[in-house]
Amino acid sequence: MSYFSVQNVSKSYDQGLALSNFSLSLEKGEFLSIVGASGSGKSTLLRIMAGLEIQDEGEVHLDGELILNPKHKLVSGYDEIKLIHQDFHLFPNSTVEENIARPLLHYEKDYSKARVETLLDLLGLQEFKSRYPRQLSGGQQQKVAIAKALSVEPDLLLLDEPFSSLDTIQTHQLISELKSLFLELGTTVVFVTHDLDDALRLTDNLLILQKGKTVQTGSSKDLCESPKTQYVARLFSPINRLPNSKSSYLRPANVKLRTKNGLLAHVVDSRFLVHFNSLQVKLKESGITWEVDDPQRKYAVGDRVYVSWEEEKIMRL
Ligand code: ADP
Ligand code: MG
Repeated sequence: MSYFSVQNVSKSYDQGLALSNFSLSLEKGEFLSIVGASGSGKSTLLRIMAGLEIQDEGEVHLDGELILNPKHKLVSGYDEIKLIHQDFHLFPNSTVEENIARPLLHYEKDYSKARVETLLDLLGLQEFKSRYPRQLSGGQQQKVAIAKALSVEPDLLLLDEPFSSLDTIQTHQLISELKSLFLELGTTVVFVTHDLDDALRLTDNLLILQKGKTVQTGSSKDLCESPKTQYVARLFSPINRLPNSKSSYLRPANVKLRTKNGLLAHVVDSRFLVHFNSLQVKLKESGITWEVDDPQRKYAVGDRVYVSWEEEKIMRL
């Protein structure tokens, strides 16, 4: 059996199914990102993984041990499994250092002290150790919450949209720090998010969740180049339907723009983005509007362009 497994888990609430016969397995030290829209069952899944929610069916095992849910366990949850949310749950009247040390209250003093020092170092929090949570940025507070969760050396770390209350710059900074931290610690991590971009920055190991079911798993390259459904394809970029076809699509980056040869189109809109101009072009014959990338920033609204593509870039969805 793998190190961590979720087997055939289903869960319904009054309004309907939140998880439907869901399974996954992870090896020790593996890092998985689960991406799904709001309401797809991500939080329910993590709570069941942590033994904090009663599933209707199915089992969760960690390192050979059955994870009991609150129906079968008096004090719900496990020290070996830590769940982190977007709100940081820090003690406001305790310093950073005290917050991280809190879960170590019953541990030997020397161990506790050394562990807190290690985490302050690992997460770059040394200079803030005497501050109170209110004296920190959101990103710093989330780091303290993660350090606090890691203090007891959990076997499994579950992150439930931990960046939702942070701005983009804070998020990117924290992601790069966490990525190296998790690699160094070798902790098994499941990260759930609605934001594919955050997931891709953290790990290449993805599971796409839709309405409580896995739609596809794989690396970002697999999912981007060979999506199984329109839903998966659209997570990466808008998609353009080929004229006279119901199921053939192209990504904006895979449409070539030329001054001759191809389907005639007119540029109807242009937006300046970081790496390219994003154009809306209206195909003359079919009247379909496509979104295409113009990496050379060559075309302007009103221009005539010819669009073409390579056969192998067509996605059949
Ligand atoms: P996500 O975290 O992906 O947004 P959730 O797991 O929170 O998804 O929710 C999945 C579905 O279950 C949603 O339709 C939600 O409304 C429903 N749900 C979640 N928690 C509860 C609850 N405690 N009571 C009733 N319905 C719930
Ligand atoms: Mg949620």
